[in-house]
Amino acid sequence: GTTGGTEEAILKDRRYLWHNITPYSEQNPPMIAASGSGSWITDLDGNRYLDGMSGLWCVNVGYGRKELAEAAYRQMLELPYFPLTQSHMPAIKLAEKLNEWLEGDYVIFFSNSGSEANEAAFKIARQYHQQTGQPFRHKTIARYRGYHGSSMGSLSATGQAQRKYKYEPLSGSFLHVSPPDGYRRPPGQTLEQFNLQCAQAIEDMVIWEGAETVAAVIMEPVITGGGVIVPEQIYLDRVQEICSKYGVLLIMDEVICGFGRSGRKFGHQNFGLKPDIVTMAKGLTSAYLPLSATAVRKDIYEAFKDSTDEYSHFRHVNTFGGNPAACALALRNLELMEEEGLVARAAVLGERLYEELSELLEHPLVGDIRHFGLITGIELVTDKTTRQPAPLDTVKAIIGACKQQGLIIGKNGDTVAGFNNVLTLAPPLASTDDDLDFLIKVLKAVMNEFAGS
Ligand code: PMP
Repeated sequence: GTTGGTEEAILKDRRYLWHNITPYSEQNPPMIAASGSGSWITDLDGNRYLDGMSGLWCVNVGYGRKELAEAAYRQMLELPYFPLTQSHMPAIKLAEKLNEWLEGDYVIFFSNSGSEANEAAFKIARQYHQQTGQPFRHKTIARYRGYHGSSMGSLSATGQAQRKYKYEPLSGSFLHVSPPDGYRRPPGQTLEQFNLQCAQAIEDMVIWEGAETVAAVIMEPVITGGGVIVPEQIYLDRVQEICSKYGVLLIMDEVICGFGRSGRKFGHQNFGLKPDIVTMAKGLTSAYLPLSATAVRKDIYEAFKDSTDEYSHFRHVNTFGGNPAACALALRNLELMEEEGLVARAAVLGERLYEELSELLEHPLVGDIRHFGLITGIELVTDKTTRQPAPLDTVKAIIGACKQQGLIIGKNGDTVAGFNNVLTLAPPLASTDDDLDFLIKVLKAVMNEFAGS
């Protein structure tokens, strides 16, 4: 039975709250989280759960960090708000720190969410070409299964039909190509051939659309929410090459991959890429407060700078973007990550998780296991030869059984394509060895229960 006011809270939740995506269900009411500490969440009834999915919302340093709360509190008393039409020290300091983390010359534009960071990127890319006297390049190439946000532009860039089709018409300036989903490559092709072919699709699109109409390519270094799709090095090398060949800006969406998840500060650093624009969000503050950023290569910014023509400014206002308390918290968050070596720890934990789970490849339902630092995807299939995706009911039952045993994990993929079959594991970067042991133990036990189905 429920205690701690859960029953009443659920009634009120059902009456007053409109949730993200998940429909309300009698059988599976939402968990009402009450508090968090480290990698663990406690609900209103006092049940504890390891948040093995927190990486998707990027609570990277874990829950309950007083240092972060204090940084925001102090800044709120000092100066709670000032617009970035002018300036303030928390934004300046954070922008400098981000430049250091990016290992390149960037200028930072602040917003509040990943969607907004991408919107700013799209507008900067379009305007940049005009600032430099080029024709009106307005198209942006993105990928199927990629997720870039929920606002109309970032939704248009998103390549997941189920999120989009009821809201059409969207922006016509976004085009999509297939991602390098190596597990589902055509038989007979090597991974390298397949990755090259996927990259070639981008060059073909640029050529056929006309390079003079293409402003940018946007992608995550590794597709996370679309099923943990890890490309070969050669794919991203080719993408970078194609972008520079045709003067198309390369936007890296680091909303999930950024801030250590990949085992490097930013995901693209694993591949030695030099993106023109980098977008980032929740990981900036470990999701404690809303803040996002669009980092723009300095020489691109120069095309907007010091212009006397007011129509040459970036005419874009974000009232809350770069909120002082959020910036102060973000700066403390990055310092904490440095003090505790969390980026390197992500690499170590990620490697261990992947190794320990690899025995699951023998499991009848497991077709493939992929990882990028401390985010792991386990692709469930009913037939290892045809790679028939496991039905949603099975995926949900596994996730439900994990939750019963105190472990929250996620699923992703693309429902319309029948690919919502990738279990996703992404515990906080600050997870202890015991946390990881628990996650592995529960997942293996649950998978064992499903070995006969
Ligand atoms: N890009 C990626 C890769 C994301 O995962 C998300 C959100 N999960 C976004 C963009 C959009 O961020 P937000 O929800 O903060 O608008």
